[in-house]
Amino acid sequence: MSTPLLELDKVQKHYKSNRSSFLGKPSYVKAVNSVSLRLFEGETLGLVGESGSGKSTTGQIIAQLISQTSGTVFYKGSDVTTFTNKQMKAWRKKVQIVFQDPYASLNPKKKIEWIVSEPLVIHRIRTKVERREKVVEVLEDVGLDASYLHRYPHELSGGQRQRVAIATAIILNPEFIVIDEGVSALDVSVQAQILNLLKQLQNKYKLTYLFISHDLNVIQYFCDRIAVMYLGEIVEQGRTDLIGSNLKHPYAQALFSANPTVDENKTQIVLGGEVPNSGTPPAGCPFHPRCAKAMETCSSFKPSDVHLNQTHVVRCHLYKTIEGNSKDTIEEAIR
Ligand code: SF4
Repeated sequence: MSTPLLELDKVQKHYKSNRSSFLGKPSYVKAVNSVSLRLFEGETLGLVGESGSGKSTTGQIIAQLISQTSGTVFYKGSDVTTFTNKQMKAWRKKVQIVFQDPYASLNPKKKIEWIVSEPLVIHRIRTKVERREKVVEVLEDVGLDASYLHRYPHELSGGQRQRVAIATAIILNPEFIVIDEGVSALDVSVQAQILNLLKQLQNKYKLTYLFISHDLNVIQYFCDRIAVMYLGEIVEQGRTDLIGSNLKHPYAQALFSANPTVDENKTQIVLGGEVPNSGTPPAGCPFHPRCAKAMETCSSFKPSDVHLNQTHVVRCHLYKTIEGNSKDTIEEAIR
């Protein structure tokens, strides 16, 4: 079995809240709570969930833009927190991130050549002339050309700005890109163009993607595997073609039932109650106050990951692990 390109093991991210608890103790917002994930070379994993579920925080931990409170991030089997400065510098080139709003992520005062070449300048790679050649090369890779070098971001459309953001992400030849709501701000026709571009680049540059989105149709179209987050935890994960119509976790079932489709026979599951405060998640299964299938045990005992088959994992008391399946069998089965 090969080593995952990236692995998160029981990763948590807790922020100290400005408010104290009832007894005056400091309280914490638990943005990410015990997330374990494996990403294998060349695959696209979709991370889906409501706002505030912890998707973006998980992506930022993977890219090490923020550090986790506890747990471990492994890159090819090595704990990234043990990296020397030299190793960390090399790692930063391999992992890039593309954000939702390209207009906010591109410096409005700088021309496209400056923006796209900035990573090369920071890492002191190539001469000025060579950098310009490389910028033109990646602009062509994303469907633009040398005529864009001297333009400013405000002169471009939303789709063109996102192409520039992608060019900036690939200029260092990364292995892995976190795409955080990367097409959500675009018109549907432009979304399709950008998704096709990302697929082409994945083949050309041998990229692995973590694709974060709240759009289930986009996730199902674009991703090899899906992980569903609720209140900072991954409650279900599996291959897209297997779990698309075979979701097991009551929250994942409700989330996908609300997704607009042309299927008139589909019944929407309406969830009761509010999303709980992540600073004080409910005891036991954090979904139990809203779950129509909750049992007595759900409010007392936290469910563990249950391996239903080689790729399908659910965190719910309704299921039991089938013998022979574990996290070590996932990689074999997605090949
Ligand atoms: Fe519902 Fe219990 Fe499963 Fe949680 S563990 S999703 S409350 S059935």
